[in-house]
Amino acid sequence: MTGKISARHVLTPAGWLRDHAVHFGEDGVITSITADGFDGANAVGTLLPGMANVHTHSFQRAMAGLAERRGPTGSDDFWTWRKVMYRFLDLLDPDDIEAICAQVQMDMALAGYSASAEFHYVHHQPDGTLYADLAETSHRILAASRSSGVGLTHLPVLYTYGGLDKRALKGGQTRFGNDPERFARLYETVAQAAPDMPGDFRLGVAPHSLRAVDRAGLDACLELSSDGPVHIHAAEQVKEIEEVKHHLGKRPVRWLLDEVGLNANWCLIHATHIDDGETDGLARSGAVAGLCPTTEANLGDGIFPAARFMKAGGAIGIGSDSNIRLSVSEELRMLEVSQRLSHLGRTILSDEAIPSNGRYLYERAAAGGAQAIGRNAGAIAQGRFADLVALRDDAPFLDWAEPDQRLDSWIFGFKGNAVSDVWSAGRHIVSEGRHMLGAEIGSRFASTMRKLASAL
Ligand SMILES: [Zn+2]
Repeated sequence: MTGKISARHVLTPAGWLRDHAVHFGEDGVITSITADGFDGANAVGTLLPGMANVHTHSFQRAMAGLAERRGPTGSDDFWTWRKVMYRFLDLLDPDDIEAICAQVQMDMALAGYSASAEFHYVHHQPDGTLYADLAETSHRILAASRSSGVGLTHLPVLYTYGGLDKRALKGGQTRFGNDPERFARLYETVAQAAPDMPGDFRLGVAPHSLRAVDRAGLDACLELSSDGPVHIHAAEQVKEIEEVKHHLGKRPVRWLLDEVGLNANWCLIHATHIDDGETDGLARSGAVAGLCPTTEANLGDGIFPAARFMKAGGAIGIGSDSNIRLSVSEELRMLEVSQRLSHLGRTILSDEAIPSNGRYLYERAAAGGAQAIGRNAGAIAQGRFADLVALRDDAPFLDWAEPDQRLDSWIFGFKGNAVSDVWSAGRHIVSEGRHMLGAEIGSRFASTMRKLASAL
C-alpha cells in the first residue's frame, strides 16, 4: 500500500511545513514530502513523527489500580507493589498475555504511540515449568502486534538470579528464569518467527537488571544482539544502588559505563538515581535514557536529572512501563513538571533554538525513542518509516495558528483525546480517533479481565 497524507502543518527536522503532503511506498518508507497543498484525501490538521514507547510490560496494564491501597505496615513502596505484581502473575496464561498486550498496544496507538518495545520477561508457566514452545509467550506478543498494527521491537529478557548475591529465583519470579544458554535458544526461536512479521519488526535483548544478570549473562546478551537494541533496568531504587555498590564496587550506571561500555544501541531504563558524573558520562555515551515519568511517579521512584542530562546532549525516550496510564502528552508533561518542582522554575526542558517546551520535549523524545528501539523513524523525513501521528485541529486548544502553540496546548492544557490518526510504517491503524480493530481487541480484553476479576 502506498500512501499520501496531506496536512495543514507538518513537523520535520527543518521545522514546520505548511500545506504539505507526505508520500510513502509499499514498504512503509517515506519517499517524499511535497508542497502539494492541502487536499481532501487523508487530510489532517497537525502531522507529527510517531512516538516510540521505549518501555512497556504490557501485562501490568491489567493490574492498574490494584496496588493503590495502604498495606498493613503503612510503608508502601516499589517492593510492596512488586509483591502484588507477582501475585497477579500467577493468574495469567498465554491467551491472557496476548489479549492484554493487544489492548495495551491499541490504547498506545490511540494515545499517539506508533511503535513500542516490549520488555518481556514472563516466559514460563506460573510454577516455572516450561511451555512446549520455549518462546510461547513471546509469540503471543508478536501476535498482539500483528493485530494492533503497532510497530514492535521485541526484547526478550534474560533474568537469572533473585539478587546480586546470585540467590535462586523463587515464587513469582520463577516464570522469568533462564540461564544464558537456554535464553539463547529462546532468542533464536523468536528470531525464526521474524519472517512472519512486518518488515519494521525488530528483535533486541534485555538483560533485566544488575540484580538479575551477572557479567557472563550480560556478555551473552551482547553477543546475541550485537547490532540491535540492548535495554536494562538501571538505577530505579536507592536500595538497589546500595546493593550494586556493595557487590560490584560501583554505582550501577558508573559500573556499566566503566566495565561494559555503553553506546547508541543501549537504552537505560529508569536511570533515576545517578550522580553528576554518571549523568554526563551517560549523555556522552550516546545511549538513550528511557524515562517512564508516570510510572516512576506512581511507584515513588524519584526524579531523573533531565535538565542536566539534556543540556549535555543526552538522548531521551519515554515509556509507559507499568501502563498505569497510557498517554504521550501525560508522560511528557510529567517529565517537565517533575523538573519544575525540583528546580523551582518553569520551561526547564527547552533551549534557545526551540523555546516551545512542548515541541522540545516531543522532538527529543521522538528521535531518542526511535533510536532506543532500533527503528528507522522518529522524524518525518525521506527514507524513514512513515510513523506518523495526526492531531485534531477541530477543537479549542488544538487550532492555534502557530503550530508550536498546538503542541504546547496539547501537552500542557488539552483535556480529551487529541489524536485523530496514526500510521505505523505506513499502516493506517487509527482513523478519526478510532482503532481499526477496536471492537474485536476490546471484547477479547474484556473477557480476560472478567476472568481475572473472578479469580483475584
Ligand atoms: Zn520496567
